[in-house]
Amino acid sequence: MAYDDQNIFAKILRGEIPCDKVYEDEYVLAFNDLYPKAPVHILVIPKGAYVSLADFGAQASADEVSGFFKAVAKIAAEHDLVEAGFRSIANTGVNGGQEVPHFHLHLLGGRAIGPMVSTA
Ligand code: 5GP
Repeated sequence: MAYDDQNIFAKILRGEIPCDKVYEDEYVLAFNDLYPKAPVHILVIPKGAYVSLADFGAQASADEVSGFFKAVAKIAAEHDLVEAGFRSIANTGVNGGQEVPHFHLHLLGGRAIGPMVSTA
């Protein structure tokens, strides 16, 4: 799947649409989800143009992959998610229910998040 540079997170990265930023460095931008599903619901996105987790893992450089996950660890620690625990989700493609085609990791915490997946 080709990267669509008109997706909402690409617009946020370019500063065309505002976001409630919680962290930024050379590799990632992190901001609060507009429709939070938990007391803490942060989206972490790479600055590079990657459609999905699969695309990111296949195409991103070692520095980008490492920078991404180092930032995730920092953000989780800064938001007191580590000791109590949290859920991280990367929805991918149609079956994964991915709505925005720019790779993003959801960090959900602040309460018990419940069963891993719905059985419905
Ligand atoms: P997905 O279903 O692709 O894994 O998740 C997309 C997420 O982006 C959803 O949780 C949705 O609430 C969030 N979202 C959609 N549009 C915006 C937006 O304009 N700003 C922010 N901060 N979050 C958004």
